[in-house]
Amino acid sequence: MNKIRTRFAPSPTGYLHIGGLRTALYDYLFAKKNGGDFLLKIEDTDRKRFVEGAVEKLIISLDFLGLERNEGVMLNNNTNGQESKNYPRVFEVGEYGPYIQSEKLEIYKKHVDELVKNGHAYYCFCEPKRLEEMRSEQTAQKQPPIYDRFCLQNVSEEEINKNLKNNCPYTIRIKVPHDEIIEVDDEIRGRVKFNTNLVTDQILLKSDGFPTYHLASIIDDHDMQITHVIRGEEWLPSIPIHILLYRYFNWEAPKFAHLPLLLNLDKSKLSKRQGDVAVEDYIKNGYLKEALINFVAFLGWNPGKGETQEIFTLEELVEKFDLTHVHKAGAVFDIKKLDWINSQWIKKLSIEELYQKSLPFLEEKEFYKNASAEKKSEDYIKKILSIEQDRLTNLSEVGESNQFFFRDTNFDKELLRWKDMNDEDLKKSLEKSLRVLENITDENWTRENLEKILMEKADEKPASPARLAGAMAKRAGGRGELLWPLRATLTGEKKSPSPFECAWVLGKEETLSRLKNTIGKI
Ligand code: GLU
Repeated sequence: MNKIRTRFAPSPTGYLHIGGLRTALYDYLFAKKNGGDFLLKIEDTDRKRFVEGAVEKLIISLDFLGLERNEGVMLNNNTNGQESKNYPRVFEVGEYGPYIQSEKLEIYKKHVDELVKNGHAYYCFCEPKRLEEMRSEQTAQKQPPIYDRFCLQNVSEEEINKNLKNNCPYTIRIKVPHDEIIEVDDEIRGRVKFNTNLVTDQILLKSDGFPTYHLASIIDDHDMQITHVIRGEEWLPSIPIHILLYRYFNWEAPKFAHLPLLLNLDKSKLSKRQGDVAVEDYIKNGYLKEALINFVAFLGWNPGKGETQEIFTLEELVEKFDLTHVHKAGAVFDIKKLDWINSQWIKKLSIEELYQKSLPFLEEKEFYKNASAEKKSEDYIKKILSIEQDRLTNLSEVGESNQFFFRDTNFDKELLRWKDMNDEDLKKSLEKSLRVLENITDENWTRENLEKILMEKADEKPASPARLAGAMAKRAGGRGELLWPLRATLTGEKKSPSPFECAWVLGKEETLSRLKNTIGKI
């Protein structure tokens, strides 16, 4: 059997779309799983949608995500590629290039001329206005938008030559045979059938001399010896044209696998309006690449019955992936699932990794910018991270809900009170904490020790007999008498990590100073 070869064929329209990432990932996984090659080619023939810098951005994103290519378009030249003619920083690696469509115009022209010569394609001189009118009439009459073949039926050989000589703008259209059923065995959808009477004579070469997607894509896939075309379901309706082109060129068609649509939670097609679709934005917003890959892998695929593992590395996905477990039904993009997967991947990071990855996010925050040098130190931040790590769903949240670590807290007496405590009891409670904490040495100032010592003290019987009865009734509530005012003093918040964790992060000096400060104000 031939070596398996897949390709990702994005158009440079701005950014890597989440759906594009899914296509690239499945192409990659399928190739790697089967010991094949995965390559990147660029479909830049739609000049109206072209965006400067988009090719480079696509490559940077794929590289960042770890979807390495064996061949095609790259940004580095480790493998002795050819410098691209059209993109200054881009190289083309491999022997089946060019891998950029705008560099193959002559090749496409040669092939389309051959189709015209063999009667499989024809010149069309219809003006846009005529085509538009035809289309609106068809829409009004609820007919399919099919070209009426005016130029095939009414323009003589002589006229064609005259028009060409006079530089009349033209397109070249494929001639679709009538009354035929075209059948394809899709690797995911099974057998699909198309009635050619409903298929229009698509344009193959546009009036600007650029090929359309259909022509270019078929010639490339043939030139690059692609064995499996894995792409989004939106391309399924193009299949009859593609099959006809393979037939007309007398080439063997590759296998096709059309991936399910991506849907919003309300089952509408995933659109920009309902959320971000640019992979770069997810990265910018604090999602880890491992989490994105993991999440996107499950958009339309699962590892099969009985498999409960949900967290997979790229290597594990290569191991597990196969096309038989790709679904036909649309895949719902659920951001909550992505958040959960991201939180799982954040838990797996070492503190060093978490620190390196979080720092750029922290550096953007006002509370961090305004903090003292001490509170920006690596040691201090790592302590915060170690208590936040298990609670984070996203790197951009770092420090966000625990800003008291970075600045002084406000004095709020009502917040400090545990239940109906009066001022005197409140003061006593804080003074007790102060005494206990003063006696802990710097070396013993650890999370575990602080918890152990403070818990012991919190469980001690309250001094006043009147309070004893109440404390006995709810033991856990008794702990609150010591721990709540302490925690509220250190954080100034209703909710926060435990007082032990906060005291540990703040350090002995700062903890005692916050306590003394508060006691002085009661
Ligand atoms: N340029 C097309 C896209 O951006 C590729 C379609 C295909 O893979 O054939 O989706």
